[in-house]
Amino acid sequence: MILLGTGDPLNEERAQSCLAVPLAGNETMLVDASSGTVILRQLRDARIALEGIRHLFVTHRHFDHVDGLAPLLIALTAVPEASITVHATSATLGSLRELLALTIPGVEDWLGEKLLWHELSPGQHVQAGDAELTPFEVDHSIECVGFRVDQNGTAMTFAADTRPCENVVRYAKGVDLLLHEAYGLESGAEQAHTFGHSTAAEAGRAAREAGVGRLVLTHLRASRYADPDGLAAEAATAFGKQVTVARDLDAYGF
Ligand SMILES: [Zn+2]
Ligand SMILES: [Zn+2]
Repeated sequence: MILLGTGDPLNEERAQSCLAVPLAGNETMLVDASSGTVILRQLRDARIALEGIRHLFVTHRHFDHVDGLAPLLIALTAVPEASITVHATSATLGSLRELLALTIPGVEDWLGEKLLWHELSPGQHVQAGDAELTPFEVDHSIECVGFRVDQNGTAMTFAADTRPCENVVRYAKGVDLLLHEAYGLESGAEQAHTFGHSTAAEAGRAAREAGVGRLVLTHLRASRYADPDGLAAEAATAFGKQVTVARDLDAYGF
Protein backbone atom coordinates (compact mmCIF):
# COMPACT_ATOMS: atom_id res chain seq x y z
CA MET A 1 0.00 0.00 0.00
CA ILE A 2 1.33 3.42 -0.89
CA LEU A 3 0.08 6.46 0.98
CA LEU A 4 -0.29 9.22 -1.58
CA GLY A 5 -1.79 11.74 0.84
CA THR A 6 -1.63 11.85 4.64
CA GLY A 7 -2.73 15.38 5.55
CA ASP A 8 -5.98 16.82 6.91
CA PRO A 9 -8.00 19.28 4.76
CA LEU A 10 -5.91 22.34 5.67
CA ASN A 11 -2.47 20.75 5.88
CA GLU A 12 -0.26 22.49 3.32
CA GLU A 13 2.75 20.34 4.30
CA ARG A 14 1.15 17.15 3.02
CA ALA A 15 -1.19 15.99 0.27
CA GLN A 16 -4.76 15.17 1.31
CA SER A 17 -6.21 11.66 1.78
CA CYS A 18 -5.45 9.11 -0.91
CA LEU A 19 -3.89 5.66 -0.83
CA ALA A 20 -3.04 3.17 -3.56
CA VAL A 21 -3.05 -0.61 -3.37
CA PRO A 22 -1.27 -2.48 -6.18
CA LEU A 23 -3.39 -5.28 -7.65
CA ALA A 24 -2.40 -8.29 -9.74
CA GLY A 25 -1.65 -7.59 -13.41
CA ASN A 26 -0.12 -4.13 -12.90
CA GLU A 27 -3.48 -2.70 -11.89
CA THR A 28 -4.11 -0.29 -9.03
CA MET A 29 -6.97 0.59 -6.77
CA LEU A 30 -7.23 3.93 -4.99
CA VAL A 31 -9.03 4.80 -1.79
CA ASP A 32 -10.06 8.49 -1.76
CA ALA A 33 -8.99 11.09 -4.28
CA SER A 34 -7.12 13.78 -2.35
CA SER A 35 -7.96 17.45 -2.82
CA GLY A 36 -7.23 18.50 -6.40
CA THR A 37 -4.50 18.18 -9.02
CA VAL A 38 -2.24 17.10 -6.17
CA ILE A 39 -3.55 13.57 -6.84
CA LEU A 40 -1.96 13.65 -10.31
CA ARG A 41 1.37 14.84 -8.88
CA GLN A 42 1.33 12.12 -6.22
CA LEU A 43 0.46 9.39 -8.77
CA ARG A 44 3.32 10.59 -10.96
CA ASP A 45 5.78 10.67 -8.06
CA ALA A 46 4.71 7.18 -6.93
CA ARG A 47 5.09 5.98 -10.56
CA ILE A 48 1.52 4.71 -10.71
CA ALA A 49 0.35 4.50 -14.32
CA LEU A 50 -3.02 6.14 -15.03
CA GLU A 51 -4.03 3.34 -17.41
CA GLY A 52 -3.76 0.78 -14.61
CA ILE A 53 -6.12 2.54 -12.16
CA ARG A 54 -9.17 0.28 -12.19
CA HIS A 55 -10.95 1.21 -8.97
CA LEU A 56 -11.53 4.25 -6.79
CA PHE A 57 -13.22 3.66 -3.44
CA VAL A 58 -14.49 6.81 -1.72
CA THR A 59 -15.00 7.04 2.06
CA HIS A 60 -17.10 10.24 2.15
CA ARG A 61 -17.71 13.50 0.37
CA HIS A 62 -15.52 15.95 2.32
CA PHE A 63 -13.37 17.91 -0.13
CA ASP A 64 -10.06 16.56 1.16
CA HIS A 65 -11.19 13.09 0.00
CA VAL A 66 -12.99 13.84 -3.29
CA ASP A 67 -11.72 17.02 -4.94
CA GLY A 68 -9.17 15.06 -6.96
CA LEU A 69 -11.95 13.10 -8.69
CA ALA A 70 -12.51 15.67 -11.48
CA PRO A 71 -8.79 16.07 -12.35
CA LEU A 72 -8.34 12.28 -12.23
CA LEU A 73 -11.28 11.59 -14.55
CA ILE A 74 -10.27 14.33 -16.99
CA ALA A 75 -6.72 12.96 -17.07
CA LEU A 76 -8.19 9.50 -17.83
CA THR A 77 -10.15 10.82 -20.84
CA ALA A 78 -6.81 11.15 -22.66
CA VAL A 79 -5.73 7.57 -21.84
CA PRO A 80 -7.05 5.06 -24.40
CA GLU A 81 -6.67 2.02 -22.08
CA ALA A 82 -8.36 3.74 -19.11
CA SER A 83 -11.24 2.02 -17.33
CA ILE A 84 -12.28 2.94 -13.81
CA THR A 85 -15.09 2.01 -11.44
CA VAL A 86 -15.92 4.52 -8.70
CA HIS A 87 -17.34 2.85 -5.59
CA ALA A 88 -19.15 4.67 -2.77
CA THR A 89 -22.26 4.39 -0.63
CA SER A 90 -25.47 5.75 -2.09
CA ALA A 91 -25.49 9.35 -0.76
CA THR A 92 -21.76 9.80 -1.39
CA LEU A 93 -22.09 8.44 -4.92
CA GLY A 94 -24.92 10.90 -5.62
CA SER A 95 -22.83 13.77 -4.27
CA LEU A 96 -19.85 12.83 -6.44
CA ARG A 97 -21.99 12.87 -9.58
CA GLU A 98 -23.56 16.20 -8.58
CA LEU A 99 -20.11 17.65 -7.94
CA LEU A 100 -18.98 16.62 -11.41
CA ALA A 101 -22.17 17.92 -13.01
CA LEU A 102 -21.62 21.30 -11.34
CA THR A 103 -17.90 21.69 -11.87
CA ILE A 104 -17.14 19.81 -15.11
CA PRO A 105 -20.43 19.23 -16.95
CA GLY A 106 -20.17 16.53 -19.62
CA VAL A 107 -17.25 14.61 -18.12
CA GLU A 108 -19.31 11.43 -17.72
CA ASP A 109 -20.09 11.51 -21.47
CA TRP A 110 -16.44 12.12 -22.36
CA LEU A 111 -15.45 8.98 -20.49
CA GLY A 112 -18.38 6.89 -21.74
CA GLU A 113 -17.81 3.20 -20.99
CA LYS A 114 -14.46 3.91 -19.37
CA LEU A 115 -16.33 5.11 -16.26
CA LEU A 116 -18.59 2.92 -14.13
CA TRP A 117 -20.34 3.74 -10.86
CA HIS A 118 -20.92 1.14 -8.17
CA GLU A 119 -22.99 1.58 -5.03
CA LEU A 120 -21.53 0.11 -1.86
CA SER A 121 -23.55 -1.38 0.99
CA PRO A 122 -21.83 -1.40 4.38
CA GLY A 123 -20.87 -4.93 5.44
CA GLN A 124 -21.01 -6.35 1.90
CA HIS A 125 -17.77 -7.49 0.26
CA VAL A 126 -16.65 -6.15 -3.10
CA GLN A 127 -13.98 -7.72 -5.30
CA ALA A 128 -11.39 -5.38 -6.82
CA GLY A 129 -8.91 -7.44 -8.84
CA ASP A 130 -7.25 -9.81 -6.38
CA ALA A 131 -8.33 -7.75 -3.34
CA GLU A 132 -11.58 -7.99 -1.43
CA LEU A 133 -12.92 -4.85 0.25
CA THR A 134 -15.51 -4.59 2.96
CA PRO A 135 -16.94 -1.12 3.64
CA PHE A 136 -18.14 -0.43 7.17
CA GLU A 137 -19.95 2.54 8.70
CA VAL A 138 -17.95 4.84 10.96
CA ASP A 139 -18.90 7.82 13.14
CA HIS A 140 -18.00 11.05 11.30
CA SER A 141 -20.23 14.13 10.93
CA ILE A 142 -21.68 12.90 7.61
CA GLU A 143 -22.13 9.49 5.93
CA CYS A 144 -18.69 7.89 5.91
CA VAL A 145 -17.27 4.37 5.58
CA GLY A 146 -13.96 2.76 6.43
CA PHE A 147 -12.62 -0.22 4.49
CA ARG A 148 -11.14 -3.58 5.38
CA VAL A 149 -8.92 -4.85 2.55
CA ASP A 150 -8.10 -8.57 2.30
CA GLN A 151 -5.46 -9.57 -0.23
CA ASN A 152 -3.25 -12.68 -0.57
CA GLY A 153 -4.14 -13.95 2.90
CA THR A 154 -3.28 -10.71 4.71
CA ALA A 155 -5.45 -7.76 5.64
CA MET A 156 -5.44 -4.07 6.46
CA THR A 157 -8.13 -1.72 7.71
CA PHE A 158 -8.47 1.94 6.83
CA ALA A 159 -10.59 3.60 9.51
CA ALA A 160 -11.30 6.71 7.38
CA ASP A 161 -12.38 9.90 9.18
CA THR A 162 -14.06 8.89 12.42
CA ARG A 163 -14.63 9.46 16.08
CA PRO A 164 -13.80 6.44 18.24
CA CYS A 165 -16.14 3.79 16.90
CA GLU A 166 -16.85 0.12 17.71
CA ASN A 167 -17.06 -0.76 14.04
CA VAL A 168 -13.40 0.14 13.57
CA VAL A 169 -12.40 -2.39 16.21
CA ARG A 170 -14.78 -4.97 14.74
CA TYR A 171 -13.48 -4.63 11.18
CA ALA A 172 -9.85 -4.34 12.24
CA LYS A 173 -9.90 -7.56 14.33
CA GLY A 174 -6.56 -9.26 13.88
CA VAL A 175 -5.53 -7.35 10.73
CA ASP A 176 -1.85 -6.90 9.93
CA LEU A 177 -2.13 -3.13 9.60
CA LEU A 178 -4.57 -0.51 10.89
CA LEU A 179 -4.39 2.87 9.18
CA HIS A 180 -6.16 5.26 11.54
CA GLU A 181 -6.64 8.99 11.59
CA ALA A 182 -5.27 11.10 14.46
CA TYR A 183 -6.54 14.64 14.98
CA GLY A 184 -4.42 15.49 18.02
CA LEU A 185 -3.41 14.75 21.58
CA GLU A 186 -5.69 13.47 24.33
CA SER A 187 -5.77 17.00 25.85
CA GLY A 188 -7.71 18.11 22.74
CA ALA A 189 -10.16 15.19 22.72
CA GLU A 190 -13.26 17.36 22.96
CA GLN A 191 -12.29 19.40 19.89
CA ALA A 192 -11.39 16.23 17.97
CA HIS A 193 -14.81 14.71 18.68
CA THR A 194 -16.63 17.97 17.83
CA PHE A 195 -15.10 17.82 14.35
CA GLY A 196 -15.84 14.10 13.93
CA HIS A 197 -12.30 12.86 14.60
CA SER A 198 -10.24 10.79 17.07
CA THR A 199 -7.18 11.45 19.19
CA ALA A 200 -3.95 9.52 18.66
CA ALA A 201 -4.51 7.69 21.94
CA GLU A 202 -7.97 6.62 20.77
CA ALA A 203 -6.39 5.23 17.61
CA GLY A 204 -3.95 3.34 19.85
CA ARG A 205 -6.79 1.96 21.98
CA ALA A 206 -8.67 0.77 18.89
CA ALA A 207 -5.50 -0.93 17.65
CA ARG A 208 -4.98 -2.68 20.99
CA GLU A 209 -8.62 -3.81 21.27
CA ALA A 210 -8.57 -5.15 17.72
CA GLY A 211 -5.22 -6.86 18.26
CA VAL A 212 -3.69 -5.49 15.05
CA GLY A 213 -0.09 -6.12 14.04
CA ARG A 214 0.84 -2.54 13.26
CA LEU A 215 -0.71 0.92 13.67
CA VAL A 216 -0.04 3.77 11.22
CA LEU A 217 -1.44 7.25 11.95
CA THR A 218 -2.67 9.44 9.10
CA HIS A 219 -4.94 12.43 8.25
CA LEU A 220 -2.57 14.67 10.18
CA ARG A 221 -2.92 18.34 10.88
CA ALA A 222 0.03 20.61 10.09
CA SER A 223 2.95 19.99 12.45
CA ARG A 224 2.54 23.39 14.14
CA TYR A 225 -0.85 22.17 15.44
CA ALA A 226 -0.09 18.48 16.00
CA ASP A 227 3.51 17.34 16.46
CA PRO A 228 3.87 13.89 14.82
CA ASP A 229 6.26 12.64 17.54
CA GLY A 230 3.80 13.60 20.26
CA LEU A 231 0.97 11.80 18.46
CA ALA A 232 3.11 8.68 18.00
CA ALA A 233 4.06 8.67 21.68
CA GLU A 234 0.48 8.91 22.97
CA ALA A 235 -0.74 6.32 20.49
CA ALA A 236 2.11 3.94 21.39
CA THR A 237 1.32 4.18 25.11
CA ALA A 238 -2.31 3.26 24.41
CA PHE A 239 -1.44 0.53 21.88
CA GLY A 240 1.41 -1.01 23.86
CA LYS A 241 3.62 -1.20 20.75
CA GLN A 242 5.53 1.22 18.56
CA VAL A 243 3.43 3.37 16.25
CA THR A 244 4.33 4.81 12.84
CA VAL A 245 3.25 8.26 11.69
CA ALA A 246 2.50 8.14 7.96
CA ARG A 247 4.41 10.19 5.41
CA ASP A 248 3.34 10.98 1.86
CA LEU A 249 4.60 8.41 -0.67
CA ASP A 250 5.72 5.89 1.98
CA ALA A 251 4.88 2.27 1.15
CA TYR A 252 3.66 -0.24 3.75
CA GLY A 253 3.30 -4.00 3.41
CA PHE A 254 0.33 -5.75 4.95
ZN1 LIG B 1 -14.12 14.12 6.71
ZN1 LIG C 1 -10.80 14.22 5.94
